[in-house]
Amino acid sequence: MEKHETPFFLNECFESIQGEGNYAGVNSLFLRFHFCNLSCSWCDSKFTWFGNARNYTEYSSDQIKEIITTHQSHHIILTGGEPSLYRLDKLFISGKKFHVESNGIYIPTEPLEFAARENLTLRRDAMDESIISQFNWVISPKLSNSRQEVNDKSLHFWSGKEYCIFKFVVRNSVDIDEVENIIQLYSINRLKVYLAIEGQTLESQLKPALVDEIVKRGFNYSPRLHVILWGMQRGK
Ligand code: SF4
Repeated sequence: MEKHETPFFLNECFESIQGEGNYAGVNSLFLRFHFCNLSCSWCDSKFTWFGNARNYTEYSSDQIKEIITTHQSHHIILTGGEPSLYRLDKLFISGKKFHVESNGIYIPTEPLEFAARENLTLRRDAMDESIISQFNWVISPKLSNSRQEVNDKSLHFWSGKEYCIFKFVVRNSVDIDEVENIIQLYSINRLKVYLAIEGQTLESQLKPALVDEIVKRGFNYSPRLHVILWGMQRGK
């Protein structure tokens, strides 16, 4: 590792199918980063940020690139936790398709300092936009159902970017109304918006009336295939 290179903290790494968003169903390698800047009430990956257990492993960018090249999957999903805490542009390898699943709060082209826990601060420089604009960014701003707040500055940034889509987690019509307000406020193209249904069980995903409403209101529906197939099983 270079002397000043910030390490990457990985919580887990596995091959599966992408469960959500505009690439649902594709064979993918998941790299799940540890730590998050939010604490959503319904978070299904609390193990990446809750508590003080050191349940992560430190890697250099070269080590992660080696993991990527030694797996067959063409699609690489950088997820978390919050992956934008790290220099994701350093992980780029040509010939692979990268996807980032981010809450969108941090602007990747700005430097960042994040106090992960006592005695551990993550620092990264700005990412190179000529590289990260080749990634498929799945930006998931949190609605009030998560007890988090929308970030004005970051939504202005992402709404102007061609290289992202937006994914919102909804429970009901009121949540869809909230999405309507957000896309209007930030001039987000409805065609780039995917709505996924909150829940961690098969039953929670089987809401045809809500999907009917999503379609009627002109949004895309994002399944959550991993929940439908495996519930909350890890490594899927
Ligand atoms: S942003 Fe994602 S990983 Fe972080 S707390 Fe919210 S749902 Fe969990």
